[in-house]
Amino acid sequence: MIAVINNTATPEQIHHFVSWVEEKGLSANVSQGTNETIIGLIGDTSQIDPFLLESMDIVDRVQRVSEPFKKANRKFHPTDTVVDCGHGVLLGGGHFQVIAGPCSVEGKNLIEIAREVHAAGATMLRGGAFKPRTSPYSYQGMGKEGLDLLCEARAELDMPIVTEVMDARDLDLFVDRNIDVLQIGARNSQNFTLLREAGRTGIPVLIKRGISGTIDELLMAAEYVMSEGNSQVILCERGIRTYETRTRNTFDLSAVSVLHHLSHLPVVADPSHATGYARYVSPMALAATAAGADGLEIEVHNCPSKAWSDGAQALTPEQFAQTMKKISRIREVITEDEQEQ
Ligand code: PEP
Ligand code: MN
Repeated sequence: MIAVINNTATPEQIHHFVSWVEEKGLSANVSQGTNETIIGLIGDTSQIDPFLLESMDIVDRVQRVSEPFKKANRKFHPTDTVVDCGHGVLLGGGHFQVIAGPCSVEGKNLIEIAREVHAAGATMLRGGAFKPRTSPYSYQGMGKEGLDLLCEARAELDMPIVTEVMDARDLDLFVDRNIDVLQIGARNSQNFTLLREAGRTGIPVLIKRGISGTIDELLMAAEYVMSEGNSQVILCERGIRTYETRTRNTFDLSAVSVLHHLSHLPVVADPSHATGYARYVSPMALAATAAGADGLEIEVHNCPSKAWSDGAQALTPEQFAQTMKKISRIREVITEDEQEQ
């Protein structure tokens, strides 16, 4: 439930209103805009009479909010959230970033790939040190050493790193190394303990949509992180499982628009996992950019046929550089359009 407050309300009146809400066992999320103040009532609002609220002098109108996500909801926070990914890199609210790198950190080739993607214009480096593999016999990632290699690449190139945490028990390894962005993978996007613990670190968290996850489930995953006081959350559309078999997943491009409509959090698209084949990655990256994604996450490998995971969907550095040129041209159109509005 949200209460839109009259613009004549004084800070004391707002304070009284907040205390009243808290006495009811709810919490109040005050969002002070330039023109109006919106107060979100968080908790079980079923016992609150909206007519009683509307009868209060400072309340202009009351709206029931059916969505269970509050902190991630644009209704309570109309302006776009900008996530500070470190190293001067901002994401969201007009700041567009490309996260690129191999699926897995495999060794010293990471730095070569990192140099290539950086030279092509990627602003963040990805690479998994802990890999969620369908089979326990597949390559599981380098673990700690993989994180160290990412840190070396970060130090050389001065670019933030994004890397997956699979288990809350590993979080200290990420915190100790000042990992810039924690990725919560599709398979873990309903691992509520992990989401909460990641939230508690205060490190920005990029959450992938679940393999068969709905948009609302992705938003509730964000809510878990945010409920721990961490508002630095990035949502990622990475394709969902459907009956289609020609692609690894079905890229739900409309999710970019729907998420922007429902939430103030930045939305990144991952055309690599969404399609599963390198040949489709560039066109879908362009489509996501045109649709207004705040960023892209793209897998790149110096020799895709030898990659230890997800080689089929990895772009070569050359293909990535070509794609980046086209992305920049689409971004020019989007930015011009935003400036005109
Ligand atoms: C990845 O980014 O390498 C990954 C495993 O992604 P997802 O969780 O989307 O499958
Ligand atoms: Mn991958």
